[in-house]
Amino acid sequence: MEIIEKAPAKLNLFLDTPFRHPDGLPEWQMVMTSIDLADYVKVKPRSADQQILVDSDLGFLPHDQRNLAFQAARILQKQFSVAQGVEITIYKKIPVAAGMGGGSADAAAVLRALNCVWNLKLSLAELAKIGLRIDSDVPFCIYSQTAAVSGKGEIISPLPVLPPFWIILAKPRASVSTAGILKKIPYAELPHADFKKMLIAVANQNIDLMLPAMTNVLETVTAQNVPEILRLKQKMAAFGAQAAQMTGSGPTVFGICEHYSRAQHVYNSLKGFCDTVHLVRPCQLHSDCSHRN
Ligand code: ATP
Repeated sequence: MEIIEKAPAKLNLFLDTPFRHPDGLPEWQMVMTSIDLADYVKVKPRSADQQILVDSDLGFLPHDQRNLAFQAARILQKQFSVAQGVEITIYKKIPVAAGMGGGSADAAAVLRALNCVWNLKLSLAELAKIGLRIDSDVPFCIYSQTAAVSGKGEIISPLPVLPPFWIILAKPRASVSTAGILKKIPYAELPHADFKKMLIAVANQNIDLMLPAMTNVLETVTAQNVPEILRLKQKMAAFGAQAAQMTGSGPTVFGICEHYSRAQHVYNSLKGFCDTVHLVRPCQLHSDCSHRN
């Protein structure tokens, strides 16, 4: 059985970190959503041997154990003593090192797909627990639905479907190392925001409450090296976005508009200033084996 699995990108509508754990990892307070900009991951079992082969249409991506999709297959294969190998082909649409969780999305897609192909019968919660060993964003990407995320990324509380809106994405040319940004977080100086307020806004599907409650405390940290982030935010607001902020550790900036005509205006206007611009919407993934081909 061969499966093609959708791997949606994520956005951080809210990102704060109240403290660092003794192991150096941040405690997160996040609201995340998946968007309809997605990689596609083809998973084809190999009965000949136990090799894991990764290929992608992006030449510069690593295809060995440095690829998060490779790590996902290896962990499942080892933990469940699977005798088969697998060929993984990644069709990349999510910009790399952009704050949109592309590698984590691919790893989660491999975990979901191999759970079906190898008939492991693991629940999404079990897959999320395995995924945490790969990256803090993988548990969220297993579900790929709007959710509150806390702990080190392992506590996922699903939230209702977001009220309808459009998202304009603009990625500066610079790529950002998440690990580098996380090391630099100035905990004593962070302008913490009200997580509860954001959760109530999203739980009530109230966009008027949600937009002013959005935040990303990493924005000022990343913007020290990539000032274009602040310029793009200003441009988004000037062109009519109702809110604009960075996602993850950046450098991608996203704007929100309730109405398509306004979103299209922001999108078209930004194309003159930025190479990588997308117009997308939030999406929800159906994650059980019965939805597979
Ligand atoms: P994070 O989830 O840490 O915020 P990001 O979204 O900013 O990450 P990714 O696109 O996941 O960034 O890429 C980060 C690094 O991971 C890159 O240096 C890339 O080489 C490596 N990587 C490993 N596997 C993948 C993959 N399948 N897709 C994209 N990048 C990958």
